Amino acid sequence: MKRRQPMFSNPMLSLIIPVHNEAEVIPALLKRLNRVCRQIPGSVELLFVDDGSHDDSVALLLRARTHESGIRVVQLSRNFGKEAAVTAGLEHARGEAVVLIDADLQDPPELIPAMVREWQRGADVVLMKRRSRAGESWLKRTTARLFYRVINRLSDAPIPVDTGDFRLMSRRTVDALNRLPERNRYLKGMFAWVGMPTVTLEFDRDARAAGSTKWNYLRLLHLAMEGITSFSTRPLRLALVLGLLAAGAGGLFGTWEVLRALVFGISTPGYASMIAIITFLSGVQLLCVGLLGEYVGRIYMETKQRPVYIVSEDSDDPARTVLPQLRVAGNDQKH
Ligand code: UDP
Ligand code: MG
Repeated sequence: MKRRQPMFSNPMLSLIIPVHNEAEVIPALLKRLNRVCRQIPGSVELLFVDDGSHDDSVALLLRARTHESGIRVVQLSRNFGKEAAVTAGLEHARGEAVVLIDADLQDPPELIPAMVREWQRGADVVLMKRRSRAGESWLKRTTARLFYRVINRLSDAPIPVDTGDFRLMSRRTVDALNRLPERNRYLKGMFAWVGMPTVTLEFDRDARAAGSTKWNYLRLLHLAMEGITSFSTRPLRLALVLGLLAAGAGGLFGTWEVLRALVFGISTPGYASMIAIITFLSGVQLLCVGLLGEYVGRIYMETKQRPVYIVSEDSDDPARTVLPQLRVAGNDQKH
């Protein structure tokens, strides 16, 4: 990361804003961010990571950059997903502290000065806990709650309930995160794993200012799987226990049937119970195999050593925008 140091001194604060087709909110976002930046005692870098948008997001940001300083646009070569975009932001940010914030104004930027104050008082991590979630359906709220509950039951580093990615992190926390080499980036879990002295502030989460959410339930399920399997091997043990229980029950039942046949003679055709047992046991087996498969798949992805993202353009580093000179994150984030 050394060679990314700029000529001028580092900004005090970097705001990392992942952007995926957010053209509708960008004008409002820039306006609010500008107002907030003026209240922050120090220089601020607005680091937009464009995650393969195919609307006017990048054009809007680059235009804003021509008449406002402190805006940087890092473009990924395609849509890699929010976790990868945030990873890219964390690796490119130069600030002494970093704030992660969504582009859709669901995390009110007006809270940033308060977060900076907590950091200046010595906190390494300032977590923003949602008191309410405006504009989110009952189903989304319930599934989110369920998600946290399941994950925390299963994984080793508990994730604080009702906190999203909206947070401030000190330089040393960000450096620690950047040293985590895994390719399956389950950031919430990684944040929790890194730890560090943390202060939690409460806020009311706003509804999306414009545009539509990029989440759907399939993605949420994927994230849940990621959360469970990347931070715990407990489900593997669960599979073992389940298998043992099923096999034990099957064994007992079998013995009982044999004894009964010996004492009373062969009485029942037993067809129905056979089918029931076979389906139950093959279900348990498939479950365990599937669970193993999840982990094996993850091992496979990790062994490929692919970078988490590819940068195609960096507004502060135009020399690297030619495609053959693509910067490969994986080379950079190690050592
Ligand atoms: N986002 C991204 N890549 C994606 C999906 C989303 O960078 O593939 C960004 C998006 O632009 C926004 C943030 O991640 O800044 C949160 O996305 P969204 O509001 O759709 O998620 P939600 O708030 O509904 O969880
Ligand atoms: Mg949102």
